[in-house]
Amino acid sequence: MGVLTGRTALVTGASRGIGRGIAERLGRDGARVAVHYGTNEAAAKETAVAIEAGGGSAFTIRADLTAPGAAETLWEEFDRHADGLDVLVNNAGIGSTRPIGEIGEAEYDAVFTVNVKAPFFILKHGMGRLRDGGRVVNISSGLARTAVMPDNMAYAMTKGALDVFSRDLSKVLGARGITVNSVAPGIIDTDNTAELLHGSADGWERAAALSALGGVGTAAEVADVVAFLASHGGRWVTGSWVDATGGSLT
Ligand code: NDP
Repeated sequence: MGVLTGRTALVTGASRGIGRGIAERLGRDGARVAVHYGTNEAAAKETAVAIEAGGGSAFTIRADLTAPGAAETLWEEFDRHADGLDVLVNNAGIGSTRPIGEIGEAEYDAVFTVNVKAPFFILKHGMGRLRDGGRVVNISSGLARTAVMPDNMAYAMTKGALDVFSRDLSKVLGARGITVNSVAPGIIDTDNTAELLHGSADGWERAAALSALGGVGTAAEVADVVAFLASHGGRWVTGSWVDATGGSLT
């Protein structure tokens, strides 16, 4: 029996990267996992198969978070498979590396839509489905607290907004014993960072040098932090910003 046996979890953007790592970990901990994705159905199915291969249970749900009414679509899909939720991880996100002098309104709107508007409305429409004693984890970024990459400003701003959401929502849901926290990774090896890490000869080394631990993080390392917050052991941590940057802010 895992620590989440009998619980249902939903991880947005679980087809790839950090979300996949979180979904697999929560599945190993015994949760039945809703594997959300935007377009990459094959990758989402791979995540679900991996969870089932590890003895867990999973189903996939599709919702493009840039579409109007995305949150309602997501919950309609979810309701076809489950009748309530214990752990919600808002992980789906997109980056933006265009400096303020170059970024256009469409890119700015897209990054705010996926990274801020979607989690907000997923909660607005999902709070009723979340059972008392539940967990919400929002995946932020170390860039919300450092200007080391100012070309990522619009992206960093979305994570700052998400952190305020975590803080204030913890007060809204606290009376029901539901915790809400942000987990902030540093640079993690995913599709999102492929150009940064592999696009130049010294990309990996420069990224690793940012961390006090001298490395580039993995999805599994972020997933372990989320798993703690999702577990019984995390019940007294709420409204918090958890640094999972491997010491990149020191
Ligand atoms: P990836 O690019 O590897 O994966 C992104 C995931 O989000 C995919 O599952 C993708 O679905 C989903 N997604 C993206 N856009 C949409 C959309 N419009 N609608 C629905 N789903 C969508 O990202 P990472 O794993 O690197 O990042 C995950 C989270 O972690 C993000 O919030 C990111 O900001 C944050 N983060 C990442 C860091 C890193 O270094 N990688 C560092 C700090 C924070 P699909 O497969 O269908 O496209």
